[in-house]
Amino acid sequence: MDTGLEKARARAEELRREIEHHDYRYYVLDDPEISDARYDALMRELTALEKEYPQLITPASPTRRVGGQPREGFAPVRHRTPLLSLANAFDEGELFDFDRRVRQALSGETVEYVVELKIDGLAVALRYENSRFVQGATRGDGETGEEITPNLKTVRAMPLRLRRTVPVLEVRGEVYMPKRSFARLNEAREEAGEPLFANPRNAAAGSLRQLDPAVTAARQLSLFVYGVGEAGGLDLQSHSQTLDVLAELGFPVNRERRLFADMEGIIDYCRRWQQARFDLAYAIDGLVIKVNSLEQQARLGATMKSPRWAIAYKFPAEQAKSRVLGIMLRVGRTGVLTPTAILEPVHLAGTTVSRATLHNEDIIRERDIRIGDAVLVQKAGDIIPEVVAAVPEDRTGKEEPFVMPSVCPACGAAVVRPPGEAATRCTNLACPARRREGLIHFVSRHAMDIGGLGPAVLGQLLAAGLVRDPADLYTLRHEDLAALERLGDKSAANLLQAIAKSKANPLHRLIFALGIRHVGERAARILAGHFGSLDRLTRATREELQAIPEIGPAIADSVVNFFAGEQNRRVLEKLAAAGVNMRQEAEAPAGGRPLAGKVFVLTGTLAGFTRQQAQELIEGLGGRVASSVSKKTSYVVAGEDPGGKYDRALALGVPVMREDQFTALVAGAGAEQSGNRPSGGQAENSRT
Ligand code: NAD
Repeated sequence: MDTGLEKARARAEELRREIEHHDYRYYVLDDPEISDARYDALMRELTALEKEYPQLITPASPTRRVGGQPREGFAPVRHRTPLLSLANAFDEGELFDFDRRVRQALSGETVEYVVELKIDGLAVALRYENSRFVQGATRGDGETGEEITPNLKTVRAMPLRLRRTVPVLEVRGEVYMPKRSFARLNEAREEAGEPLFANPRNAAAGSLRQLDPAVTAARQLSLFVYGVGEAGGLDLQSHSQTLDVLAELGFPVNRERRLFADMEGIIDYCRRWQQARFDLAYAIDGLVIKVNSLEQQARLGATMKSPRWAIAYKFPAEQAKSRVLGIMLRVGRTGVLTPTAILEPVHLAGTTVSRATLHNEDIIRERDIRIGDAVLVQKAGDIIPEVVAAVPEDRTGKEEPFVMPSVCPACGAAVVRPPGEAATRCTNLACPARRREGLIHFVSRHAMDIGGLGPAVLGQLLAAGLVRDPADLYTLRHEDLAALERLGDKSAANLLQAIAKSKANPLHRLIFALGIRHVGERAARILAGHFGSLDRLTRATREELQAIPEIGPAIADSVVNFFAGEQNRRVLEKLAAAGVNMRQEAEAPAGGRPLAGKVFVLTGTLAGFTRQQAQELIEGLGGRVASSVSKKTSYVVAGEDPGGKYDRALALGVPVMREDQFTALVAGAGAEQSGNRPSGGQAENSRT
């Protein structure tokens, strides 16, 4: 018996089982347990074993197939041409090997390469028929993906209609979450005691594969396309020409792409991006090198897993060594205690890092991170610093293990950790730290938008016992405010005015401000539009909520639970008594709806309004704001520097309005609403 072979067989089996487990965590649950670098190391070990002992190769080995599997609850979509993964190169030597293989297979012909950024998101296939978007799917296992058409429609960068007629087109691209949205999402999840996404790729995948498209919409996803599957009627010769054509058709194509004739230039380019990537607004995990000629690509062909004409150069993970000086606990809006490591400042991935999230008690224990430890730090998605591991060999014996306190550091009340949850929560609904976070959210710009009420003032109001919940803001008197530290007479008057003004806010702002779990701005708008009043929303059943397009089980459950809460109901009663608007404006008893039935699309920057203000004005007058231009659009309002929507409006013959015309229109409509004669806006069809 060949013991070397037997040992290799056993190890290969073990590796396959391990990789399959991690594939499931990563592709199906969007919740990996190990880093990509560790996963890649397992895969490389298996590849090396299979190379040495080819008799061990099985068709189902993870080295031979694309890793994903469709998740339950989505309809399966069979891809007409498979969506493959990419072979990886981890160093320059592997790039030269790739180049050699390509040139050999093409018998020494001249080869040109296109190099693109490797966007850290998830692959999607977008199908257009007669220039209209008809279906979108995930990659899945490469053969069968999940249908996510309604979710994809919420990705604003994705055109719903092409700029010129193409009978059939299937486009491939990467849906991604910009770094800032990723950071904000994880902050909110940490706050709510929900599990964090490990990186923007998992965050994008988790957001797109949602049974509630409203959850997807709230996540601010974007898209870059980088290839075609089926392209009836387009005469395509090269990959770079394909990208140009896709851009002309209205798709977002990443501008950072270059043509190269040799590997040396490519390697320089890769090195440059290794540093420059930190300045991008989205995460990339490498570069993709593709043979440019489509005819050469066809001759090179593909394996079951990846094309032979492309390779991904993967950046090494950036880590830095630091020391844990202390562990601080922050109490969030829902009472979750989040531990944060205070670090010796260290330079990492473009910035100086002096604190890093430790997520929760379990993670600290699993990683055995102690106060005083030397630790390795990295940034999830280039942005959120986290402690990856302790360096036990550097220990002096003086390090102290972290112990989660049994009482809340902010109020001294007992904390609990419910079975099956990783989060420890303060049990005191009246905890000042929780109240403060809840109030910060309530007054924030996209919620009730009460300017001037910053965290410091709110802290003082809480400490003085003047405010216990958001409704108390509306009973504040001038003398209460003027007595606060660093707040003079004038600021107090301004604040009171801002508070009073917020009473008239549209209903969706109030719904968002309440901080109901999963109810972001978009879901709040949908709920306000559907129910028309807070009273009706509080009485909605799970079934009623779930019957609304875009609202799924997660939102429905948390809305029902929120309004079932005794304390929440009391706050709502106080808000109503204070005169806070609880009805959809369009249904307000005063006035008609002069813009009813009119659909507006906004593009470019308006000088006199933010997008949000313009949208509220239109909605307040009964109109609707859509995100993309179609024949049904009544007007496109074009500010400074209008985007593609402007061109599309011209192409479709939709009237375009300048800002002054828009202002006149809403002023006129507003006058009509309050009983005066209208002075309709003049729309024209010319560029301003
Ligand atoms: P991949 O992400 O390494 O590369 C292939 C993908 O790159 C394509 O499917 C496409 O979606 C994307 N891509 C981005 N920009 C592109 C561009 N310009 N052109 C072409 N494609 C582009 O491969 P994969 O199969 O999606 O995932 C494998 C990787 O996922 C592993 O190397 C590992 O890093 C990670 N992974 C991690 C775990 C874990 O547990 N941590 C588990 C499974 C997979």
